[in-house]
Amino acid sequence: MGPGDDPAAVARLAAPGLVEEAARRLAAYWREVPGLAPGRAESARGLAERLAAPPGEEPGDGERLLDLLGRAVGAGEETGSPRHLAYIPSAGLPASAVGALLAAGFNRVTAIPDLSPAMIALEDGLLRWLCGVFGLPAGAIGTLQTGASLSTLTAVVAAREDRLGEATARATAYTTVHTHEVARRALRVAGLPPSCLRTVPTTGDLRMDPAAASRLIEADRRAGRTPFLLLANAGTAVSGTVDPLPELAALARREGLWLHVDAAYGGGFRLTERGRRRLAGIEQADSLCVDAHKSLFAPFGAGVLLVRDAATLRRAFALEADCMAEVSGGGDLPTYSDLGPELSRESRALRLWLPLHLHGLRAFREVLDRMLDLAAEAHRALGAHPALRAGPVPDLSIVTFRLRHGGDRANRDLLRRVNATGALRLGGAPVNGRFSLRMCLLHPQLDRSALREMVRVIARAL
Ligand SMILES: *Cc1c(COP(=O)(O)O)cnc(C)c1O
Repeated sequence: MGPGDDPAAVARLAAPGLVEEAARRLAAYWREVPGLAPGRAESARGLAERLAAPPGEEPGDGERLLDLLGRAVGAGEETGSPRHLAYIPSAGLPASAVGALLAAGFNRVTAIPDLSPAMIALEDGLLRWLCGVFGLPAGAIGTLQTGASLSTLTAVVAAREDRLGEATARATAYTTVHTHEVARRALRVAGLPPSCLRTVPTTGDLRMDPAAASRLIEADRRAGRTPFLLLANAGTAVSGTVDPLPELAALARREGLWLHVDAAYGGGFRLTERGRRRLAGIEQADSLCVDAHKSLFAPFGAGVLLVRDAATLRRAFALEADCMAEVSGGGDLPTYSDLGPELSRESRALRLWLPLHLHGLRAFREVLDRMLDLAAEAHRALGAHPALRAGPVPDLSIVTFRLRHGGDRANRDLLRRVNATGALRLGGAPVNGRFSLRMCLLHPQLDRSALREMVRVIARAL
């Protein structure tokens, strides 16, 4: 028997017992996490060295490795806590994480329909349903990306191909100061010079001013530029503010601009009646992105991109026709490798398909409606405190506030004092050029009593 024929070595690669042990630990974590403090559980000191060690020649011990991983996870912010309100992403739903595990475990080829047609049908059905949720017409299509960064890049490339072709030199695109930084990067990666970006002034309530956008577009045309892309926000990361989408859609149509709506954070709220109204106009977008790892509670890596006209994605991304000719038989199912920048790709649909079908839509609506209610309550309660001034009435579930008296320094100090209590984590963001404290309410386990307690902690820290 040669060294390559050792059956024990082969059997070891099946990792017996590992999945059960990993599942047991994850289940324990999911039971505990609602009660965990949002701060750091363990110092990272001494851990980094062990974690960074190169793999050895001999097999390691599964339990020991899982222990080490558990400590690594604990040596940072407990962002999975319902009281961690500093950032938008929240704890992933267990069902969504299990969907990701199943996708990786079964590991089907989902770039082209031939090898795993039913898995493609599942993904296509999910994305068509989402197109319907956002009111896009027949002919629209969806793809799953890692997140809004890649969704935005994909949309920008489709817009560039569709509206500019190769005439990119004098192109201009329109954003606001509240547009997420990933849009600027997407333009840069798409080969458009930084000088193409225009910052449209916002109105006092932090929304893009359509009249100002119209004037900028006109001035650019007069100067011989080629306006091609309007980037609107449906829930900014700073304050959750939704731009006036119907007016911006009308402007984009009139001017022949591609309208991309960043609903990375806000998109999930479309499932609720209030969210549907607040996101009205989004159905006129040429493209929009929604991060299911935000308002649909999936773990990271669940970015949804919806595009009004599937042909625009195909024209921008299709591989050479004969690249996969021997396997790709076509049919009605989408060839995802022709609709975005990836060929081999993870089957991300299970991160959404499993929780949506397992829990049902009402469960998602209930959580999202609760977040809208809690945000309204937090805004009222903080605004009613004599020492505080609340930011704009939340469109969705982000609340900002600052001290009624005191500059940025005093507000930063307040943020430090609140976070030092260990009871919650708040973030900070510039609102109308002034540092404000910010709470993002987006967690399935966050409820009214926890919110009221956190508001009391903030009041005591003043
Ligand atoms: C989070 C976020 C992004 C970036 O999304 P990633 O998934 O991190 O790439 C863009 N826009 C908004 C409004 C966001 O909240």
